[in-house]
Amino acid sequence: MPDYNRREFAVGFGLLWLGAFQQGRCGPAVESVPLKVMRRRDFEPGYRKLERQGELQNRVRALKEIYSSCRLCPRACGINRSRGQKGFCGATARVKVYSAHPHFGEERPLVGRRGSGTIFFSLCNLRCVFCQNWEINHRGDGTYISDYELAELMIRVQDMGCHNINLVTPTHVVPNIVSAVRLAIRRGLEVPLVYNCGGYESLEVVKLLDGIVDIYLPDFKYMDGEMAAKYSSGARDYPEVAAAAIKEMHRQVGELVVDEDGIALRGLMIRHLVMPNNIAGTDRFVRWVATELSPLTYVNIMAQYRPEYKAHQYPEIARRITRQEYEQALQWAIEAGLKRLDGFV
Ligand code: SF4
Repeated sequence: MPDYNRREFAVGFGLLWLGAFQQGRCGPAVESVPLKVMRRRDFEPGYRKLERQGELQNRVRALKEIYSSCRLCPRACGINRSRGQKGFCGATARVKVYSAHPHFGEERPLVGRRGSGTIFFSLCNLRCVFCQNWEINHRGDGTYISDYELAELMIRVQDMGCHNINLVTPTHVVPNIVSAVRLAIRRGLEVPLVYNCGGYESLEVVKLLDGIVDIYLPDFKYMDGEMAAKYSSGARDYPEVAAAAIKEMHRQVGELVVDEDGIALRGLMIRHLVMPNNIAGTDRFVRWVATELSPLTYVNIMAQYRPEYKAHQYPEIARRITRQEYEQALQWAIEAGLKRLDGFV
């Protein structure tokens, strides 16, 4: 199992600070603008419309073709995954899943009362040295399943009452996911699809997801290519690649829209993990969001960094962040004019 206890603890640790900020007991004052609301009965997930138009099958075909010379992510390994070859991420053309269940540690608009229907995919195209789930993402713990079985998992978490299907680390298995969505539509899939990724995405693939994904939930981890190369397995082009992908996501789905109960239906939510010594470039990140997207973008400035996996080999990231570092991060977000910070809207 992923280390939920530690993860929940870390989330709680961040929320403790956040709670104090929200109640005005400490830290900078945050101004916010309420989220847009849409009636639930007027919402239809994009993938159902595309299926009705006969377009979803074309997307599955186009995505599966990419497996024959894999460029599903910017690493562009060029190997034939359909023939069982493995590239940087270690995945073949079969999907490997670690777990599927309601999750209550995600952002409030995703969790609601009944949880986010989280499906954790094994392996990863980034492989950070501070990975909190390295057993799943690096070592690849999990079980191979068919696209049909993946569709079953989607229906199962929907039947449990979850508000969405939250696809965690989906980048390297997008063709299987979209194929499974088609199968699940026939079984009544109707909740929003959340694409919960590390931000290291191929623009070509994100364009193929246009109309399929309702909610994009990318990380934006670094603003400096040297940092990305050092801590995320040589991904030096991460800042420009993530910026282009997230702009495209924003173009497709726009600002976050919720239903009458505050549950997310559609839109972009960005996560940014504050790192020790401003390794993540938080000041530049918040300015980028405000100027290149919109100050009304939903942004989660996350406090829960902790040194996991190999982080202890890098003294500059071998500690948690301090309260001052988190306050400074929030201050930068406020100065940049961001109006929809997680926990404050
Ligand atoms: S998804 Fe995996 S095999 Fe394909 S390009 Fe990315 S790292 Fe390489």
